[in-house]
Amino acid sequence: MPLPVVAIIGRPNVGKSTLVNRLAGVQEAIVYDKPGVTRDRTYKPAFWADRDYLVVDTGGLIFDDDTEFLPHIREQALAALADAQAAIMVVDGQEGPTESDREIAQWLRQHSVPVLLAVNKCESPDEGLVQAAQFWELGLGEPYAVSGIHGNGTGDLLDQLLTHLPPNEEIDEPEEVRVAIVGRPNVGKSSLLNAFVGENRAIVSPVSGTTRDAIDMLVERDEQRYRLIDTAGIRKKKNVNYGPEFFGINRAFKAIRRADVVLLVIDAIDGVTEQDQKLAGRIEEDGRACVVVVNKWDTIDKDSHTIYEYDRTLGNKLYFMDWAKRIYTSALTGQRVPKILDLVDQAVAEHRRRVTTAVVNEVLEEAASWHTPPTTRQGRQGRIYYGTQVTARPPTFALFVNDPKLFGEGYRRYVEKQFRQNLGFEGSPIRLLWRGKKMRELDRQSANRATKV
Ligand code: GDP
Ligand code: GDP
Repeated sequence: MPLPVVAIIGRPNVGKSTLVNRLAGVQEAIVYDKPGVTRDRTYKPAFWADRDYLVVDTGGLIFDDDTEFLPHIREQALAALADAQAAIMVVDGQEGPTESDREIAQWLRQHSVPVLLAVNKCESPDEGLVQAAQFWELGLGEPYAVSGIHGNGTGDLLDQLLTHLPPNEEIDEPEEVRVAIVGRPNVGKSSLLNAFVGENRAIVSPVSGTTRDAIDMLVERDEQRYRLIDTAGIRKKKNVNYGPEFFGINRAFKAIRRADVVLLVIDAIDGVTEQDQKLAGRIEEDGRACVVVVNKWDTIDKDSHTIYEYDRTLGNKLYFMDWAKRIYTSALTGQRVPKILDLVDQAVAEHRRRVTTAVVNEVLEEAASWHTPPTTRQGRQGRIYYGTQVTARPPTFALFVNDPKLFGEGYRRYVEKQFRQNLGFEGSPIRLLWRGKKMRELDRQSANRATKV
């Protein structure tokens, strides 16, 4: 089951957004636009005791005008309620029940979703409970006297809410894809980030990772969830006056380390710089999947050959990650921006892919028969006994050979090329581990394995 959603519903000015902020803590509000929804809908992560949930603020959604709320409710609040596990109806305790409150309550009672009634603005110790008691008439059960501003009463409300939320163990989100967007200043990282957020359902995740201020953002597309790593870092540097050489490379390195896949953003005008190469080198070393995004493509004067020539030069400068796909985008016009996540999906699938030992050995045999392993002057020849994939992320293969020293750089590169040609893994680095093994040891190992089975 996915993370449960709690919908906050009520007429304007009762304190819905204040209450949401209280429940979610001080998270930055992230909104998303969806066709047909007149205003933004905001999802924020929250938790109480041992349970996590998302709180969706329907604030501003439902009513533009009190007198017109019924048609709006049916259209908009239904959407908000559709995937909610529970709803909190908020009313104004200082004002007392209104006609709108009654209509909303009546409407909510017709739905199967459990509803809690939060009577807000009840911070007065003398009057709070009396103010709340007026709302029994709504027929939604016990009115909880709360104050969104001061925080009173919210604990009792949340204890009650918990009874409607699944325990965390039952929450099983599809595995998220962790994406780092890195690149020099001004290449368009925040513009791309905004484009992702604009197109997809987005929420801010709780503070996570190593640094306290590394705020990640979650973006959802077709059921797949992407964690955009350290979005605070992408935005923050704007206010900081760094020297020309410094671009927060350590922060970028940290983001790379936490990522499954890295979007290496390059400025089309400048091409690949030394700093870009440094980032690319780190991505390869850390074994992360990568998509090279050449942004500001709109600024380049083009004829029909431009992209080929440009791509060749770029490929030469990034020769050590020739496995990464390159895409030419404009965050300004939106050109190919939606395609970036398609490439991310492909790269991640390859990064996680496993192939069987039989297939690995077919590739090895084929490679050895085209090009036999080298022989030393003394006549010792390299022999590859067998290979197997030992892990993924990135795909890593152990090749058991008689003596790794017999396999020089040239032959190793050749074998790696054969792996690429036959097995693909586009978008992901791969690793070949050359391991020395005496044939006798191998025999003993396979004998052991056989007796265990
Ligand atoms: P929304 O339109 O329902 O989202 O309401 P808001 O959260 O924007 O709040 C509307 C007004 O009520 C604001 O002026 C808030 O400051 C005020 N308000 C919100 N919560 C409380 C509260 O607990 N006590 C008091 N006295 N005022 C509150
Ligand atoms: P960041 O520092 O990498 O986050 O870069 P920004 O997203 O802040 O972009 C830096 C500048 O480049 C801003 O003025 C953007 O409007 C501009 N920019 C970003 N993407 C593009 C693009 O695709 N084409 C053009 N022409 N300008 C862009």
